[in-house]
Formats: sequence, structure tokens, C-alpha cells
Amino acid sequence: MIIKDKEFGEVIVRKSPLSRSIKFSISTSGRLQMSVPSSTPDFFAKRFLSLNRKTIREKLPVKDPGTQKARDYQKKQLMKKAKEYLPYRLEYLAKLYGYKYEKCRLTHANTRWGSCSSNKTISLNIGLMKVPEPLRDYVIVHELAHLNHMDHSPAFWAEVGEHDKNYREHRRKLKAFSPGV
Ligand SMILES: [Zn+2]
Repeated sequence: MIIKDKEFGEVIVRKSPLSRSIKFSISTSGRLQMSVPSSTPDFFAKRFLSLNRKTIREKLPVKDPGTQKARDYQKKQLMKKAKEYLPYRLEYLAKLYGYKYEKCRLTHANTRWGSCSSNKTISLNIGLMKVPEPLRDYVIVHELAHLNHMDHSPAFWAEVGEHDKNYREHRRKLKAFSPGV
């Protein structure tokens, strides 16, 4: 459910059988998010929001509705660019270095640039479209190397180093960027 709120803009309400109490957080778009127990009636969620207005205002960095919308647009543009680029770059580098993966998935998590699952799905963050190409390639090579090593062992880093001699520098430089869109 979405509550349209005058002060906080669109508030995302998530009903979850796992939550026992109502918790507030901020979504990647800067929207206020409420996770509530499944049995919570909508009117109660709204009332709870009203009662906690002051605390939310003081403690959570809710973006104003205009910024929320601008960020949606930015993310859509970035997703479009990513779709036209990342799966092809992954395919190219995989072929070049002799890797076989199952699937490429595009994500927009706030914390990770990429991941590689045990079923050989490689996930790449659309935020990669904002970083310089050598750093982007480093992330792709890093995830490809995970197809052979599901850890960060010396053998894993040796393999990354085979395809990206400057991986240490790239890894360090990447820290200046944030995967969040
Ligand atoms: Zn890794």
C-alpha cells in the first residue's frame, strides 16, 4: 500500500508476516517506508504514521516528494542505459576470458556493485553506469572470477589479477563511488 502524505510524499507500507512491530526506514528513492505486521489494518498504519510524525522528522532523512520523483526518473534512465550495456559487456568479457554464466540480472541495491550466485547468475548494479569504464570492468571481472571461486581467497584474487592487472587500484578507486542510485 502507498499512503500519500502531505509532508512525506509517498509512504510505502509493506505488510510482512515476519514483522511483529511497526518499523520505519528509508527506501533507496528517499521515500519513507513502513514495515508492519500482516494483520495491521490500513487505517491503523495511517494513524501510526500521524502519531510518529515528529520522531520521523527528527530521525529519518525522508526526501521531499520532488526529490523522490526526480530520483525515480534518474533511476529509470540509468536502468535503460544499463540494459543496453551491462549484459553485453558481461557477455563480451566472459567470452574473452572463457567463463560460462547462466544469467545476467540487473539490480539497484544500495550496497553492492555485483554478486555471483551458486547457480551462476551474475547480478550487476545499474549504478555501474555512473563509474569509469575500467572500474566497471573490474566489477564484472570480479564477479566472473567468483564462478570459479565462491570466496575472496588468494586464489580468487590471483584470478582477478590475471584479467585486470590493476585490480587493486580499481578496487580502491571504486570506494569513492556509491552503488546507490
Ligand atoms: Zn566478491
